[in-house]
Amino acid sequence: MNNITIQSEQLLLTAAELIPGGVNSPVRAFGGVGGTPRFMYKAFGSRIWDVDGQEYIDFIGSWGPAILGHADPDVVQALARAAADGLSFGAASPGEIKLAQKIIKLMPGIEMVRLVNSGTEATMTAVRIARAWTRRNKIIKFAGCYHGHADSFLVQAGSGAMTLGIPTSPGVTPAAASDTLIAQFNSIDSVKELMAANPDQIAAVIIEPVVGNSGVILPQNDFLQELRDLTTQHDVLLIFDEVMTGFRLSSGGAQEVYGIDPDLTTLGKIIGGGMPVGAVGGKKPLMKLLAPSGPVYQAGTLSGNPLSIASGLATLNKLNDSLYDYLEKLAAKLEAGIQSNLTALSLEFNYQRIGSMGCLFFTDRPVLNQIDASTCDTKRFARYFHAMLDSGICLPPSQFEAFFISAAHSEEDIVRFVEANYLSLKKL
Ligand code: PLP
Repeated sequence: MNNITIQSEQLLLTAAELIPGGVNSPVRAFGGVGGTPRFMYKAFGSRIWDVDGQEYIDFIGSWGPAILGHADPDVVQALARAAADGLSFGAASPGEIKLAQKIIKLMPGIEMVRLVNSGTEATMTAVRIARAWTRRNKIIKFAGCYHGHADSFLVQAGSGAMTLGIPTSPGVTPAAASDTLIAQFNSIDSVKELMAANPDQIAAVIIEPVVGNSGVILPQNDFLQELRDLTTQHDVLLIFDEVMTGFRLSSGGAQEVYGIDPDLTTLGKIIGGGMPVGAVGGKKPLMKLLAPSGPVYQAGTLSGNPLSIASGLATLNKLNDSLYDYLEKLAAKLEAGIQSNLTALSLEFNYQRIGSMGCLFFTDRPVLNQIDASTCDTKRFARYFHAMLDSGICLPPSQFEAFFISAAHSEEDIVRFVEANYLSLKKL
């Protein structure tokens, strides 16, 4: 590959005068890896093209939504049909019921759901419901988990913040930050300590059941079950943020995989099939607190808009066991290839994955929480990232992000990844 970035460089110069940092979401700016962020203009199947005409095999997948690959023909057709009938009604429409039915049928913990426009809106609303239900103010989140960019979550918030080295964002008031308590992922004791120190003050514990925003970190042993038991014992609501894992790990998300029944669940990404969407769902008495059936206010001009509904439904309708089996087959092949490369090159890095999401941590330490993740050699990761990009493999430009395999990837794509991985690691 010739790795030309002339057009991208020019666009970045122009964009930086118009848009902060030249991008509309921070990690896209390559802050964690240096170099010129590629401006993309087209994506289809497993491929994405930059404005300098280079083709990449894409493992970002729009940061999760593209489980079918890009521009899946059935999704595009559903979108085109929906668009011809109007882009936004600002009124209830039948498709919203279908999407709600689908989500409720598949997600074990969801009995009722409210559709919103992003994952951030979903988590924000989940916490508002929890505070209203419990009449308590504080929440517990885990270091390295990202739940969107609402004030209460921007405390030790995973990839974006880790990549840019911002522990808590300026602009978040001390009062807002003080209502957010931080525990360590995989440490039930850290949660117990916070509960003991703040009796009857904690409304909810919010967690990515599998962390995807500090790389990929799996819950160990009975951590999630212990968290469920502890929260129940203290009348604290348990919120599973499945914006990334929902419909990614299985059609019932991480809650199905680990057999845990959260009180509230947040979704996004895949349920919009690439269009902006989010959802908060859970037990009926909690959900009925939302306006207009209850007093907790939440609203959205474009909520439930027919385009997001159409692409979301078309995407969810294509998810079935054989698709998840195929993703698992590709992911297992990739894992075996990466492990054998690491062995051949005597590198003791940790590859961690579940289903079709994975991360190669540049540390010899198994990564069980953010403290472990912070031991990664991010400079070496940056060199690896660029070597992979130059070989035509598009990975997230941060050590602390998951990459994703889609149903549009082929075995040949995985072979190309493994080959590029070997050569890129060898160059380090
Ligand atoms: N929660 C999790 C687990 C996420 O991964 C993200 C986004 O990456 C969000 C919430 C926020 O979603 P959005 O970017 O749609 O606001």
